Amino acid sequence: MSIVPHLPNVALLFYPFTIFVLMNERISLVRGDITKMQLDAIVNAANSSLMGGGGVDGAIHRIGGPAILEECKIIVMRQGSCRTGEAVITTAGNLPAKFVIHTVGPVWNGGKSNEALKLANCYKNSLLLAVENNVSTIAFPNISTGIYGYPKKDAAETAVEAVTLFLQSDLSIKKVHFVCFDEENYFIYQNIIGSYAIDP
Ligand code: ADP
Repeated sequence: MSIVPHLPNVALLFYPFTIFVLMNERISLVRGDITKMQLDAIVNAANSSLMGGGGVDGAIHRIGGPAILEECKIIVMRQGSCRTGEAVITTAGNLPAKFVIHTVGPVWNGGKSNEALKLANCYKNSLLLAVENNVSTIAFPNISTGIYGYPKKDAAETAVEAVTLFLQSDLSIKKVHFVCFDEENYFIYQNIIGSYAIDP
């Protein structure tokens, strides 16, 4: 699906420019802690058990409280574990966000296990679930770049490409925040997003 059918006629006259402006307004880069973000949804870099773990997953469950784990358990009872690249949605418990979307990033295996496709699926499937749940503002951590060992620059390129592609075909997501906890990721994203990254 392309963005074209959604745009008013006047925007079609300036199609490439319009895409640029839309991206400028819809993607932002944040240095900080995703658990503090007051948005419709934050994304968790979960593991397939959905039972919590370390890194951002640990922080989300710790600060969000037990309501998140309770919903995760119900999901696992219903569908089994969450496979790599897929996403599920729960309450955000005590977090300022409304929902947590849990997605399972790929463990880095030297690039031999379709990691880029799986990582792109994390972003795409999280955004699809967001749209289904009327989420219009969402934040992503740098999925797989912690414990799962994905090279940060490669992961960032895949993340930005997947989100940009999605936003071109969907106008209901108003804002995507890439939240970088560490300085290295922040600088990498700054370079990639470059001129169209704006402050939240
Ligand atoms: P994974 O297992 O997918 O690698 P991690 O949680 O280990 O998940 O790391 C993913 C990214 O999340 C890393 O870049 C890490 O620095 C970042 N991170 C850790 N804690 C937070 C947090 N509170 N807010 C945002 N990002 C975080």
